[in-house]
Amino acid sequence: MKDFPVIDLHTHCLLSDGVLCPAELGRRVAVQGYAVLGLADHADPGTMPGIIKTGRESALGLNGHMGGLTILPGVEITHVPPALIGDMVKKARDLGASHVVVHGESVVEPVAPGTNLAAIEAGADILAHPGLLTEKEVALAAERGVYLELSGRGGHGLSNGLTANLARKYQAKLLVNSDGHAPGDYLTPERQRTVALGAGLSEEEFEALMEEAVGLAETFKQRLV
Ligand SMILES: [Zn+2]
Ligand SMILES: [Zn+2]
Repeated sequence: MKDFPVIDLHTHCLLSDGVLCPAELGRRVAVQGYAVLGLADHADPGTMPGIIKTGRESALGLNGHMGGLTILPGVEITHVPPALIGDMVKKARDLGASHVVVHGESVVEPVAPGTNLAAIEAGADILAHPGLLTEKEVALAAERGVYLELSGRGGHGLSNGLTANLARKYQAKLLVNSDGHAPGDYLTPERQRTVALGAGLSEEEFEALMEEAVGLAETFKQRLV
């Protein structure tokens, strides 16, 4: 049994409906075991440019002064109609986002049907809380290299077991993220492990997931330069 520093690529701060500014969030999570804090605030066509610009300035200003923590300025395309998701993903990359998360078809929100598929077809980096995702979607996610999320958030996490099972069947890639909005929501090394094992991953699968997450975070970091 092994704990790993936290790599959490889906969190919220006050750039959308989270409660902390990036510096306070960064400090708080650094002391609870984070190596990588991925900001991914809720974005629609109007709010996305400001979120990415401010997130980049916070990340580029703070990184190197946070005791080894790396902040990544991503974005979460949220409740955007599926027909617009492809263009939004491209625009997020043009604006300099480190990574693009799409708010998937969670079982606890009325996300438009077709969102999961649009996100995967667009080549988003991460499909968050994908809910009752289909075998076709998982197969395509595996083919396109889109990571599927095991959510540490109450409600969204109800379908983590299905996500893990289908990911194993189609060899799709998984991540553990908090989707945290406030102190108390964010992960610890132990909680990160619990979310993975609670979804049915073996110890070995969890270790492989974490090794993969380290490489993915490094790829995202390279996009900032
Ligand atoms: Zn939110
Ligand atoms: Zn979120």
